[in-house]
Amino acid sequence: MTTSPLRVLPVEWLPAAQMKRIICHWTAGGHKATEFDRGHYHILIEADGRVVRGTPSIDKNAAPVKAGYAAHTLNCNSGSIGVSLCCMAGAVESPFNPGKAPMTKAQWDKLAVVVADLCQRYGIPVTPQTVLSHAEVQANLKIPQRGKWDFTRLAFDPSIIGAKACGDRLRAAVSAHLKTTKETS
Ligand SMILES: [Zn+2]
Repeated sequence: MTTSPLRVLPVEWLPAAQMKRIICHWTAGGHKATEFDRGHYHILIEADGRVVRGTPSIDKNAAPVKAGYAAHTLNCNSGSIGVSLCCMAGAVESPFNPGKAPMTKAQWDKLAVVVADLCQRYGIPVTPQTVLSHAEVQANLKIPQRGKWDFTRLAFDPSIIGAKACGDRLRAAVSAHLKTTKETS
């Protein structure tokens, strides 16, 4: 695998394409990426922080979407990169129960690095409309979703509650990483 020094994702995972936004999910599965999980997202992050490439290539989701694109967000796949954390099988939002595969701090921390990488590669700004979780799509993009709650809770930090609180924390971490990258390049 080829990586540039400041990049966590191999360059061959990042084909040239016009991409507008990054939508972050969890798989509602186990801590490892299955073939089924890989079919729905461009990039997955396992519980220990390992990154796994999904089956669809990112450029399949450039507008207009091509056959075999990643169908990760209802009515919002065109121009959208889908990244997913492998976790939260059997989880319940309220009363909160993270289930048998809770989101780990390691995969959350890796998410910020992966998203920063994608922002840099595709020239995507860090805003609530362009870097967001699935749970924020309805409020931030006005595209109705069917009660998706990835992410309204972070299993490793129960003090963070709600889609906006989780999304803001993600964007702050991505911005901090982009700033560090700029300073060291
Ligand atoms: Zn989702």
